[in-house]
Amino acid sequence: TVRTRFAPSPTGMLHIGGARTALFAWLYARHHGGQFVLRIEDTDRERSTDEATQVILDGLSWLGLNWDDEPVFQAERQAEHIVAVDQLVEEGHAYRCYCSKEELDDMREAQRAAGKKPMYDGRCRHRSDRPAGAPFVVRFRSPDEGETIVNDMVLGTVSFPNVELDDLILLRTDGTPTYNLAVVADDAAMGITHVVRGSDHLNNTPRQIQLYQALGLPIPQFAHIPLIHGPDGAKMSKRHGAVAVTEYREKGYLPHAVNNYLARLGWSHGDEEVFSEAQLIEYFDLAQVGKGASRFDQQKLDWLNGHYMREAAAADLVAEVARLLAVDTSAGPDLEPVVASLQERSKNLLDLAEGARFFYVAPTSYDEKAVAKNFKEGTAELVEKFIAGIEAMDGFSGEAAHALIGQVCEAEGVGMGKLAQPIRILVAGGPVSPPIDLTLGLLGKDESLARLKNGLA
Ligand code: GLU
Repeated sequence: TVRTRFAPSPTGMLHIGGARTALFAWLYARHHGGQFVLRIEDTDRERSTDEATQVILDGLSWLGLNWDDEPVFQAERQAEHIVAVDQLVEEGHAYRCYCSKEELDDMREAQRAAGKKPMYDGRCRHRSDRPAGAPFVVRFRSPDEGETIVNDMVLGTVSFPNVELDDLILLRTDGTPTYNLAVVADDAAMGITHVVRGSDHLNNTPRQIQLYQALGLPIPQFAHIPLIHGPDGAKMSKRHGAVAVTEYREKGYLPHAVNNYLARLGWSHGDEEVFSEAQLIEYFDLAQVGKGASRFDQQKLDWLNGHYMREAAAADLVAEVARLLAVDTSAGPDLEPVVASLQERSKNLLDLAEGARFFYVAPTSYDEKAVAKNFKEGTAELVEKFIAGIEAMDGFSGEAAHALIGQVCEAEGVGMGKLAQPIRILVAGGPVSPPIDLTLGLLGKDESLARLKNGLA
């Protein structure tokens, strides 16, 4: 069965490119009814933090990329990594290298002077003087001839001449394992069948394949995903816009809009743009991931987000709107109908939360331009007639309030906007709100009256 993984280093945020890699690995596993697991590559003890791990897990959860098993923490597997190195040394695939920094510097200097690319020349493979107690690293004895072929599911066949791969360090002088060794030992131990990762790791792959071979382990399939570029063609970075997944959340994007957008960034299925989660799982295949870098397109993401804003059930948006709104909503109307009244016209959840704020926080000031435009001679008298009508009402409803606006305006011989817009400004603080019947109905009789009177005073 298919088993994919996402292996982030917890040294910062969850980058949008990392999220897309995780999404592709997740989709591939779910499509095949397999498993998707996490490995936190926290071997850089200086830069790895628990907070960063939490941010990554929260980001994946927010996107709905659920993982199987408990996450594996790479730093806890150091003993197993060393077992693998010992096996390689015992079987002659690795050796101790005692070269000092000075010796390596001299070697590289000589190589450069001879017009060659500096790389370790393997001199310790046959070194006879092994100074007792001197510091050493362990290096992999990589093949000198032939080539190592990566049959990549996305990039196709890529071959690397072995002479260009020097003897990789597996264990540092302090006894800690290096990245390539740890990744191979862990992917094998975790039963990973498909390594889906960014194409920035492609150059590590021939080395990893050699390690699998030397360790006698089955080689997984590889799928290297081309990177995301900004509109200018440079690697996507902060100057192109938000790169952290949390930023998208705080800006009010819907997780499925982000997933749908990221899935289409590099993968295609005909000309379709809109995919439900079930459709993504059904249609996704690594074979349809493009070989070239993709360009980030903010407008398309915004368009998809608008689409899902309109499609969503209000009930599913309430919790996140409440979080973004960050005010006490208990004394005001239920949030769900408020969300329903706003979601059609909102670009994102942040926008929606801003539009919902006046329902819970009465205005203390009024949009000056809107006031200048809508408050003329006689406006206050119209509003007072409306107030009197509401007070005289038995019950109260948005529809009844709306009908009353019509009656007052007809009696005065003015259009409904002459009263509806001033009412809106007095209750909402500005010229924008859901339709006036909904707005007043949600606020209720007492709150509507209080705001109108307060505003006129
Ligand atoms: N930890 C590596 C990174 O964050 C990924 C390693 C891999 O996927 O093999 O770039």
